[in-house]
Amino acid sequence: MTALLDQPRGPKKACRYGSHRVLEPAGALPQAAWRLDNTPAARENEILCDVEALSIDSASFRQMRDAANDDPAKIAEQIVATVALRGKQHNPVTGSGGMFVGRILNIGAQLHAQCGAEVGARIASLVSLTLTPLALERVIGIDLETARVDVEARAILFACAQFATLPPDIPTRVALAALDVAGAPAQVRRLAARGSTVVVIGADGKSGLLACAQARMQVGAEGRVVGIAPNGSSRGAVLLRELGLVDDFVEADARDTESLLTMVPERIPRLADLVVNCVNVPGTELASILCARDEGTVYFFSMCTSFTAAALGAEGVGKDVTMIVGNGYAKGHAQIALDTLRSHPRLLSYFTDTYGASTA
Ligand code: NAP
Repeated sequence: MTALLDQPRGPKKACRYGSHRVLEPAGALPQAAWRLDNTPAARENEILCDVEALSIDSASFRQMRDAANDDPAKIAEQIVATVALRGKQHNPVTGSGGMFVGRILNIGAQLHAQCGAEVGARIASLVSLTLTPLALERVIGIDLETARVDVEARAILFACAQFATLPPDIPTRVALAALDVAGAPAQVRRLAARGSTVVVIGADGKSGLLACAQARMQVGAEGRVVGIAPNGSSRGAVLLRELGLVDDFVEADARDTESLLTMVPERIPRLADLVVNCVNVPGTELASILCARDEGTVYFFSMCTSFTAAALGAEGVGKDVTMIVGNGYAKGHAQIALDTLRSHPRLLSYFTDTYGASTA
C-alpha cells in the first residue's frame, strides 16, 4: 500500500471540463477549485489566448472599488494578488469573476477541427474568469467607470468553454459589456410572456437595460415593464423612459424593503409575473420576492444573491414563487444580447457612449 502511494503521479489526463488544471481541492472542477494551474501553454484539448483586457464582474468590481477607496493602483494590487493566489481572477469575497477579450494564440491538437475559430482570431470568452486559468504579467490600466482592466496576460480555455468571435459591426468594448451579461436578456426572452408584467431591479445598469429592452419586446403593448433603481435621473433611467422600454421607473433602494413595500401597491398594482434582479449589491432578495405575484417567477441574475436569504425570505413572507438562479449561459445568449443592441439603435449609442467606440 505504502509503495503504491509513494509512486510519483504523472500529469492528469486532459479532461474536457479542465479538471486536469485543478491544484486544490482534489476532485473539484475549475470553477469550484480554490487554485488552478495557470501555466500558459495549451494542452491537446485547450486553447491558449493572449489576453488584452478583463471585464470584471460588476459585483466583484464594486467590492474591490469599495475595499480600495476607488484607488486604481490598489484595485490592481488586489487583482494581481488574487491571480497569484488562485491562478484565476476569482474574487474570494464575492465569488465572482468576469470575462476576457483577447486573441487565440494556439489551439490544442484535439480541438483543431471543432474549435470554430482560427489562431489569431479576436474573441471574447463567454465563460467566467472564476474558472479560467490566467497567467497575469501586469495590469496596464483600470477604467473605474466600465470595470475594464487592460492587462498583459495569457489565459486558457477548455474544450467545453464558450467564446464568441467579436462582431465587426459593434465596437469591441460595447460587445464585451453586452456579452458579459448575455444570460440576462436571453432568459428574459424565454420567461416574459405576452401581456405579462415584468419588474427589473437594477434597471439602469448593463444587464438591466438589456433585460428591459427584451421584456418590452416580449410583453408587447398590452404588458407592463417597471424598472427599479436608486437614481431615477441617471442617464440609463432617462433613456429607459424616453425609449418607452419601461412603463414606469421607480426610484428606490431595493435593500430598503420596507420603503419599497409602501410603493408597491401604487406603482406595481398588478404584481409582477416576472421579477428580474440585476443589482450589484447584496440584500435585495426580499424586495424582489415581494414585487412578484403569488406563483410568479423571480429570476436572480445578480451575483450578490444569497440562496438562504431568498429561500428563507420567501418562506417568511409566505410567497409561493419560482426562483431561478441566473445561469450565465443560455443557448444563443451571445447573439440575443448583441441583437438586442442592434434592434435598439439608441441603446447601442448609449452603450457606445458609456463603454467606448474603439475597436481596441
Ligand atoms: P451594473 O451595470 O453595475 O448595474 C447594477 C445595477 O444595480 C445598477 O442599475 C445599479 O444602480 C443597481 N443597484 C445598485 N444598488 C441598488 C439597490 N440598492 N437597489 C436597486 N438597484 C441597485 O451591473 P451589471 O453588469 O448589469 O451586473 C448586474 C449583476 O449581474 C451583478 O450582480 C453581476 O455580478 C451579475 N452578473 C451575473 C451574471 C450571471 O451569469 N448570472 C453574469 C454577469 C453579471 P446604480 O448605478 O444607481 O448604483
